[in-house]
Amino acid sequence: MAGRQIALLDGLVADQIAAGEVVERPGSVAKELLENSLDSGANRIQLDIDAGGSRRIRVLDNGSGIPADQVALAFERHATSKISALSDLEGVETYGFRGEALPSIASVSKLTITTRVAGDVAGTQLRLEGGRIAERREVGCPVGTEIEVRDLFYNTPARLKFLKRESTESSHVGEALVRLAVCRPGVSFTMKSGGRLVRDMPRVERIEERIAAMFGRESIVRAEGSEGGVDVLAILGPPEKARAGAGSLYTYVDSRFIRDKTLLKAVSQAFGGTLEPGRYPVGLIRLSLPSGSYDVNVHPQKTEIRFADSQAIYRAVVRVVGEMVSRSAWTRSSNTASKIAEFAPDRQSSTPSYRPSGRLVPPPASPAVSPPAVDRGAVQNGDSLVQESPQELPLISVESEVKRAGASFSDLVYIGQAQGVFLLFESEKELVLLDQHAAHERVVYEKLRSQLAAGQILAQRMLVPHNVDLGPSDAERIVDSSEALGRLGLEVTRSGPDRVTIHAVPAELTDASPDRLLADMVLALEEGRDGSRGDTEDGILARMACHSSLRGGKTVARAEALALLEQMEKIDFAGHCPHGRPVLAQIPWNEIRRRVGRD
Ligand code: ADP
Ligand code: MG
Repeated sequence: MAGRQIALLDGLVADQIAAGEVVERPGSVAKELLENSLDSGANRIQLDIDAGGSRRIRVLDNGSGIPADQVALAFERHATSKISALSDLEGVETYGFRGEALPSIASVSKLTITTRVAGDVAGTQLRLEGGRIAERREVGCPVGTEIEVRDLFYNTPARLKFLKRESTESSHVGEALVRLAVCRPGVSFTMKSGGRLVRDMPRVERIEERIAAMFGRESIVRAEGSEGGVDVLAILGPPEKARAGAGSLYTYVDSRFIRDKTLLKAVSQAFGGTLEPGRYPVGLIRLSLPSGSYDVNVHPQKTEIRFADSQAIYRAVVRVVGEMVSRSAWTRSSNTASKIAEFAPDRQSSTPSYRPSGRLVPPPASPAVSPPAVDRGAVQNGDSLVQESPQELPLISVESEVKRAGASFSDLVYIGQAQGVFLLFESEKELVLLDQHAAHERVVYEKLRSQLAAGQILAQRMLVPHNVDLGPSDAERIVDSSEALGRLGLEVTRSGPDRVTIHAVPAELTDASPDRLLADMVLALEEGRDGSRGDTEDGILARMACHSSLRGGKTVARAEALALLEQMEKIDFAGHCPHGRPVLAQIPWNEIRRRVGRD
């Protein structure tokens, strides 16, 4: 076949492709339009939809409006008034910045915009069909912007087919509104669906009033704190109002709604035994971080975010929420004044209706990065000593021999790989042979250990969940251990009589075979429980680390070898792999010289 010509995509086709990312359904259109309204400084926003938004979505705001000569420009791809250089991306304070939403939405709908800026006598109205300007005229209108999107996906029938029932779509639209409204108390929002007022959120002074209006006034507690440069604001309902799933826990970085697993895990950890697994409190958690320590430009819909240091987030949330839980009236018998429960207007009348069934697991006292080998059965929390989870086994002390006196790994120069298993380095004094598998295992082991000490091993969701077929009794056993497995970073659910599904694996072990890891962990946990081998927590971690990827026989690139060395530099290196095998051998050059008869 003759080679096809490469050509630049027609702008409209490009918009429609981009629309596939930004505009998935009416709810995503609503989100983009509402965000634009907020970015324009509006403090009154009205949203109307018909037929779940597929027939019509209209957003009316009293923001700045768009100057007449720029209205058409707003529908050009990558036209944005919000950033102009890549460096502006750090710490963008507006929701938008890609300049993609309007052209994308317009390319798959019939859109009318009516807008006017203060000072202009007349407003501008532009009508677009499938992204092409069909009509432009001057109109009389209030200052602000009205955008009406009709017949979404009329020209992309395949996508139209994916829309769900009207009620489903309209609840997505409602959710988009609430996510934005929760942390914007100074803006009033209304939403009508089919002409009926379904949400009315008047302007209020404080976020907690929004939360109270949504989830009831009783027992809402506010806590604020800061750790490691992460500011945390938490406004949460009591444990008895918790819901299955995190759908009513609104989480933000500044005003941006985000979904982040580490954050949710930290909340679970902070609530400890007061919440059943999988349940989350209602309310809001808002983080503020230094700009530059996160990246919002990861996901076209911007609900995912990349943190430079997610452990810091974890620790800060566990700390602030953990203190809130342990000090709040929820779990106390006397209603002692607590400066944390600042906002609990009816606190007098709502003294604890709830008693925790389990023990509270407090936040780790000093956020463990690489904790010293102390007895971790007990964790110091302020003035109280609280036992950690009951299954926890005593820790074998790992010799934390200080780094080899004087010689730092960074003094070593990489020579190459030998026998497929050794990495060779030299220093002035000696030749160093590093066992690549043992060393990598050791590094992974240390990482797992410090993560577990901070609560649980960080998991990474699998893009495609992995099914494992086994006998029913095995499936049962795995499900019985699912909580403990969860702490180890393995998220497993039962998906059939003979089948379990792995949803997440330890982030450090994404290259390992999930089946084998699961089988090994279940075995290790069971042996630990019935004491037949008395596998300690460290024993389990050592077995996990064994699944790390740098097996003997694997060719190691120079960069990989150096990275490994650098990581070893960071750990409290004892010179052994977790199984006690030495990680490296050092042969002094003197010795080698002597052997060859030099000197
Ligand atoms: P972005 O929000 O990423 O900048 P959009 O395509 O959503 O890109 O919007 C393009 C531009 O149109 C915005 O940068 C803004 O200048 C203008 N705009 C869009 N909606 C509004 C609005 N409701 N009020 C004022 N200006 C708006
Ligand atoms: Mg936008």
